Amino acid sequence: MPDPSLRLRKLRGLLADRHLDALIVSSLPNVRYLSGFTGSSAALLVDADHALLITDSRYAEQSAAEAPGFDIDVSPGVPALVAARSAGPRRVAFEAEAASYALWEQMRGAAEKSSAQLAPVRGLVESLRARKEPDEVALITRAVEITSAAFEEVLPMVVPGAVERDLALELELRMKRAGAEDVAFDLIVASGPRSALPHGRASEKRLSAGEFVVFDIGARYKGYHSDMTRTVFLGNPGSADSELYNTVLSAQLDGIAAAKSGVAAGDVDAASRRVIDAAGHGSRFGHGTGHGVGLAVHEAPRVGQRSEEVLEEGMTITVEPGIYVQGRGGVRIEDIVLVTREGCRVLTPTPKDRWILE
Ligand code: ZN
Ligand code: ZN
Repeated sequence: MPDPSLRLRKLRGLLADRHLDALIVSSLPNVRYLSGFTGSSAALLVDADHALLITDSRYAEQSAAEAPGFDIDVSPGVPALVAARSAGPRRVAFEAEAASYALWEQMRGAAEKSSAQLAPVRGLVESLRARKEPDEVALITRAVEITSAAFEEVLPMVVPGAVERDLALELELRMKRAGAEDVAFDLIVASGPRSALPHGRASEKRLSAGEFVVFDIGARYKGYHSDMTRTVFLGNPGSADSELYNTVLSAQLDGIAAAKSGVAAGDVDAASRRVIDAAGHGSRFGHGTGHGVGLAVHEAPRVGQRSEEVLEEGMTITVEPGIYVQGRGGVRIEDIVLVTREGCRVLTPTPKDRWILE
């Protein structure tokens, strides 16, 4: 079991550094990270001496069981109670990216009646979440294994005539049977010209010979996510298709080779981008090279151009360059890696050299 009190201690340190007296946590992954509570409606109020979890009556029993270190307030009006509790002569921070307008109005109303000052913060709890504890790495690794095993089992069904959506369903079924709570996101199975869409959700399209098929898939296991992309080719690739695949593969390997504790995340992006630029495909790689993965599929750190966040030991990030040729097709390859002191460890076991399906 992770130790929520250690996480709270770290958060309190961050609040003190910023001269903040309290934080209202309304992002659910952050609520889960700090308290252990997994329900769908809750907020936290954390200050130097108190840790309060506010939820509604449906969750009375569950919240007491999952968040033993917290005082629990069960009330129908989460925002109202947060507002009431945050009144007082102090600086109360709230999560700018997770506070609804309704919550903001209630907090402002409460602050006006008291001498509390509201301060928006961004990425505070997320900065703690970026660096994973060993228990978290184990859960991500399990999600990764579930995803890779499902892919392995479905690969023989990847033949001309197969429907993208059917393949996505086969993958989902296997992941859930193996213990996944759910898929990590709408699975992407995109073939032929659709493979040039970086987010081509599985459609009714049938696969044809001579096409790339991009699989971007993931599972959620005990709250933690996996995220993997593999691209295969049906039939015999021509030299242009082989060049596309091999360029993305060497870009991905160079990105992985650059990932190391102490390195700026932007340097990982640059390492991948350099290969794609040099091959003349720079304009066909529009997205960032990767992102952190954990309680959210996309979380800190961002691994993109000009990302200045410094990689630290224990971060789990994706490395996923791609090249997308409109009207023709695309290739993307994505692994999750665990950043270490010496470099990184690739968690995704699925091979990348077995891409031609004849
Ligand atoms: Zn992905
Ligand atoms: Zn990803």
